[in-house]
Amino acid sequence: MSGKISNRRKFVYYLGMMFIIIGFLMFLSNFIFITFEGSPFGHKGFFFRRTSPFLGFDSIVGGFAIRGVSSFTLIIIGGVLMIVGRAGLAGSGIILDPERAREDLKPWNRVKGGMINDTLNEIDVVKTVTRKLSGEEAEPVIKVRCSSCRTLNDEDAKFCKNCGKSL
Ligand SMILES: [Zn+2]
Repeated sequence: MSGKISNRRKFVYYLGMMFIIIGFLMFLSNFIFITFEGSPFGHKGFFFRRTSPFLGFDSIVGGFAIRGVSSFTLIIIGGVLMIVGRAGLAGSGIILDPERAREDLKPWNRVKGGMINDTLNEIDVVKTVTRKLSGEEAEPVIKVRCSSCRTLNDEDAKFCKNCGKSL
């Protein structure tokens, strides 16, 4: 259970996605319906022919409103289902329970932690700092200043890298 998203949550997530798609198609069909109704092809239109024998103009308008409302209801329900499926009941804040929320969000936090680690590993500076923090103290860097041009040279340098004078 921990670390993985349960099949039940996956099901709820994809169910929500389906609701949104159906709601969206239903919403679009409203316009197709109206276009056919108002077009010269009116009664031959596919969407119109299917419903028109039983509906007068008023009920067509009513049908438009009902389909509009129910398509938005489907989209909203679908959106909520997707959120709950993704984050769990507690993780999405529907149930107020921090302990369960932490459990619900574990899979996502694990990914987040992994991504942060990937980023950190690419940064050399951080590597040095972690080495220091973990006790492997880096050796202090000693520089030698050239007596004639004042340039800082490495401790083991034999000649100045700037003026070439022997150190
Ligand atoms: Zn020098």
